[in-house]
Amino acid sequence: MTTTDDTRLDVRTDATAGSRIVHAEARLCDIPVETERTDALQTFVKQETILVRIRTADGAEGVGYSYTIGTGGAAVLSLLRETLLPALIGLEAERPEAVWLSLFGITRATTVGPITALALAAIDTAVWDAKTMRAGLPLWVAAGGASPSVPMYDTEGGWLHYRTDELVEHAVAAKERGMGGVKIKVGMPRGHQDLDRLRAVRDAVGPDLDIMVDANQSFSVSEAVRRAHLFEQVDVFWFEEPLPAEDIEGHRLLARSTSVPIAVGESMYSLGHFREHLQRGGASIVQADVARVGGITPWLKIAHLAESFNAKVAPHFLMELHVSLVCAIPNALYLEHIPQLRAVTTGELRIENGRGWAPTAPGLGIPWDDRALDRLIVA
Ligand SMILES: [Mg+2]
Repeated sequence: MTTTDDTRLDVRTDATAGSRIVHAEARLCDIPVETERTDALQTFVKQETILVRIRTADGAEGVGYSYTIGTGGAAVLSLLRETLLPALIGLEAERPEAVWLSLFGITRATTVGPITALALAAIDTAVWDAKTMRAGLPLWVAAGGASPSVPMYDTEGGWLHYRTDELVEHAVAAKERGMGGVKIKVGMPRGHQDLDRLRAVRDAVGPDLDIMVDANQSFSVSEAVRRAHLFEQVDVFWFEEPLPAEDIEGHRLLARSTSVPIAVGESMYSLGHFREHLQRGGASIVQADVARVGGITPWLKIAHLAESFNAKVAPHFLMELHVSLVCAIPNALYLEHIPQLRAVTTGELRIENGRGWAPTAPGLGIPWDDRALDRLIVA
């Protein structure tokens, strides 16, 4: 005779057994960068894209990915091929928490850190793809289903190398396309240079377009405080990565000194790091990057953690995947417009009147062009 608990266990096992992973492979592609992209610290050299493909016992497929903006992709690929993919065989795609926990357990010597997080993310997104394909649900519904679309802001027109007249032209065009905001990179040698560029944009677009600024971790605390006061003059919507991400106390001091909301997250790799920032009051906008935090499983926890602090989420980059995640959660603020996958997909993110719409197809809903990917494989 079975107990009630045993019965539940049996039912669960039957329901998930078909999702046992029987095949997993990884490859590395270099996707061309569409536009020169520069900020205060770096230039996008290329988009190294690490792809993981899995297949389950009942024949479902899942494709996941993560990326770098130029280096480290081979290290991620090596960790996947030598350690993580062999350990993935036999685990159940229907249970992403179990998969994540199991793989995290064998990477303790190299975590928390970017290489391991990127490897885990490539697997975790493939697992969620297979899980939601099996369920016949689009990711945005399966992960919470808060809203089918989200407002977008544009970053592609605000890189640091653009002249002021180019920034103005791009911002006006983004406004005409219905974008809710534009991001302008900051970090010019002198504060007035940043301010002059921002003022020109503000004068051109008027008071109702959000202007975000992004320093890519380039300032000291005192310089960030000074620039934040300058940026207040043009009603900046948020001040992104003013300081190195590990300087949590610096963020707290800065946030206390300015009316401009502080945004952080693209250089953070663990749930705990986000908790520290939120708990200490260093930021009120969270920009978790699904690749850099280790996948959808931890990303959703970070988003819900942020909600508990009354903080909004505006993820970094990866708009083709993040659209489904911000549509899943109740505290989404914005989706960032930087096209990443046009060269390797057969369809584009649906954008209408400045809103991004989550794919309605089951799974992640990213229409990979396998032949295009094949041409770009480097390892
Ligand atoms: Mg940024």
